[in-house]
Amino acid sequence: MLTGHVPILETRTLHWPDEAACEAFARGLARHAGLHDAFIELHGPLGAGKTTFVRHLLRALGVQGLVKSPTYAVLEPYALPGLDISHLDFYRFSDPREWLDAGFRDVFAAPGLKLAEWPELAAGLLPVPDLRLWIEPQDDDARAVTVQACTTRGQGLLS
Ligand code: ADP
Ligand code: MG
Repeated sequence: MLTGHVPILETRTLHWPDEAACEAFARGLARHAGLHDAFIELHGPLGAGKTTFVRHLLRALGVQGLVKSPTYAVLEPYALPGLDISHLDFYRFSDPREWLDAGFRDVFAAPGLKLAEWPELAAGLLPVPDLRLWIEPQDDDARAVTVQACTTRGQGLLS
C-alpha cells in the first residue's frame, strides 16, 4: 500500500458484502458537516467501485441526475446550495502542465468537497487528503475497504 509521506492518524477496515454496503457507508459519511470541505482520495483497481461510491455519496448529498465518471473530462463539478463538489479522475492525467491548464490549483484552493480517483497519477500535486479509501474487489460484489484518516478532519469523518 503506497502511503507517500502522508501521516496516517487512524485506520479502519470495512467489509462491503455488496453495493448496498457501499451506499450505506456513503450515506453515513454524507451526514458529517466536516465533509463539506474535505478532500477524499479513492484508490483501487478499475471496477473496484470508486465512481460507484462517489455516485452514492453525491446522491446522499442531494445531487440529482446523472453522476458521470470524469475519466475523460478529469473534472466533473457539481454545485449544491452552499456546497461545491469536484469529482476528479486522474486516470488519463499525464502531464503536470494539465494541472495548471485545467485550473486544478483553483479547485483545491477553494472551499468544497473534493473526491479524486487515481490520485497516485497526480502525486506531488495534490494536498494531503483528509481520508483515503482503498477499495479491493473480492469475490463477486464483496469489497475489502481500508479507510485511512490523514487529518483531524478525516478522523472526525470516521467517528
Ligand atoms: P471504478 O470507478 O473503481 O473503476 P466503478 O465504480 O466504475 O469502478 O465500477 C464498479 C462496478 O462494481 C459497478 O458496476 C458497481 O455497480 C459494481 N459493484 C458491485 N459491488 C460493489 C460494491 N460492493 N461496491 C461498489 N461497487 C460495486
Ligand atoms: Mg471510476
